[in-house]
Amino acid sequence: MSASTTPSLATVEGVDVDTRHWINGERVASATTFTDVSPIDEQPIAEISAGGAAEVDAAVAAARAAFPSWAALPAAERATILRRVADGIDARAEELARVETRDNGSLLRSHRRGVMPRVGMNFRFFADWVENLDHPDGEIRGHRERVSYDPAGVAAIITPWNAPLMLATWRIGPALAAGNTVVAKPPEWAPLTASLLADITAEAGLPAGVFNVVQGTGAEAGAPLTAHPGINRLSFTGSVPTAGTIATAAAPNIVPLSFELGGKSPLVVFADSDFDLAVSLAVEQFDNSGQVCLGAFRILVEDSIRDTFLDAVVERARAIVQGDPRHEDTDMSCLISRAHLERVDGFVQRAKGAGAKAVLGGGPNDDLGHLYYRPTILVDAEPGSEILTEEVFGPVLTVQSFTTEDQAVEMANSTRFGLAATLVTGDPERAERVSSRLNAGTVWVNCFFVRDLGAPFGGNGKSGIGREGGTWSFDFYTDVKNTVFAP
Ligand code: NAD
Repeated sequence: MSASTTPSLATVEGVDVDTRHWINGERVASATTFTDVSPIDEQPIAEISAGGAAEVDAAVAAARAAFPSWAALPAAERATILRRVADGIDARAEELARVETRDNGSLLRSHRRGVMPRVGMNFRFFADWVENLDHPDGEIRGHRERVSYDPAGVAAIITPWNAPLMLATWRIGPALAAGNTVVAKPPEWAPLTASLLADITAEAGLPAGVFNVVQGTGAEAGAPLTAHPGINRLSFTGSVPTAGTIATAAAPNIVPLSFELGGKSPLVVFADSDFDLAVSLAVEQFDNSGQVCLGAFRILVEDSIRDTFLDAVVERARAIVQGDPRHEDTDMSCLISRAHLERVDGFVQRAKGAGAKAVLGGGPNDDLGHLYYRPTILVDAEPGSEILTEEVFGPVLTVQSFTTEDQAVEMANSTRFGLAATLVTGDPERAERVSSRLNAGTVWVNCFFVRDLGAPFGGNGKSGIGREGGTWSFDFYTDVKNTVFAP
């Protein structure tokens, strides 16, 4: 770590972004950098400080030093500062949207309309929640009983690139509101908006050391953070293999973990459903080029409507406008990296080689080149095969059919994941019956992606450990204490 001559600033879409770490309220450069490449055109857009164990040590030390006074602030005072962070996010939402689009290739219109408003909400919502967290005292055999939520200490927060600022702030918001200090390790594929967030927290008056950002790769910056004895909570959002590595690294320190991992969620369509709604929900799964953990990529449709439904989905998906995510009329853009494109294509080609048929797409978009992959729909995949059981994280839907409700449930629950499930039916009794049997942390009935920040969010099986959201976030980011007072 040094104050070196490495570049410290990038101008991205007209916005100046500091490319160094943010440690103890100061910008800190590393001796080396890594190149941040935009997936839109595979052009380099920034040289980012490449952190390692030294930067992690410094950030954890800063967070530990800042913890006692931040934790001692009354919740209402913490909440006031976090609302100012939310105001800063709202004020800079357009800049954040433009930078994030350039950085990870997600649609600018989605960032403007949905993602950045949610980023601000991630602070405002948990600021409001912590002010009302007090649990009324109870009574036990004549004794007065209190439940209190003590801040836990330093929270390490490691997040992926597919919605980098939204996913990071969904943890940073409650962690800070609860009185913890934070060391965040943003994704190396999309590191820029975390740096802008650091500026915003400083402008909002968050004390030095309360929020820290260490940039770098998973192996060099993430690994020392997960193994650090100075962290008290570890929140990780990412893939299952990385989660296994992280769990092993964190185990000797007995650090509580919250894992939000991958999925292979089903979209179950019954013949009694609103046909147009079901078709729209299927086509919606191409959002963010399918790089959505919650995406319902396994379409299970009742036999009797299978052919008409498939035709309608293919027709609607053909109308998807693919291109530069900065254009307002673009519906779907690119994948995050060449390695990821090759991974996605590998799944598709292996599936085709094993007998699956692409009724739409089935390969890269050669007209657009670069990292653009065609919306793809596969049928006739071999039951139990890789394409039906492993997370692709790309614009690839599979369609299978079922004849009975039991069979639908069995197929829906047939993977090692359990993040989400979407059910489309016009029969309210069936909605109750089937939703209760689906193995998923979130079930949507006749809707998709309706998210309540006060509701529990997380996955079953290989989709994660624990729940965050509302009270569940505070259960994780605090040491919940029970005190009993004698009369
Ligand atoms: P990833 O696991 O490769 O990386 C996620 C983060 O972990 C990155 O910041 C990375 O640098 C870091 N990391 C990598 N190796 C590490 C190590 N050894 N120690 C510490 N940190 C390390 O995942 P990804 O490819 O960035 O993201 C895609 C995955 O994330 C998909 O599986 C997707 O389903 C999942 N995801 C889950 C949710 C959810 O809420 N359940 C949300 C979004 C994405």
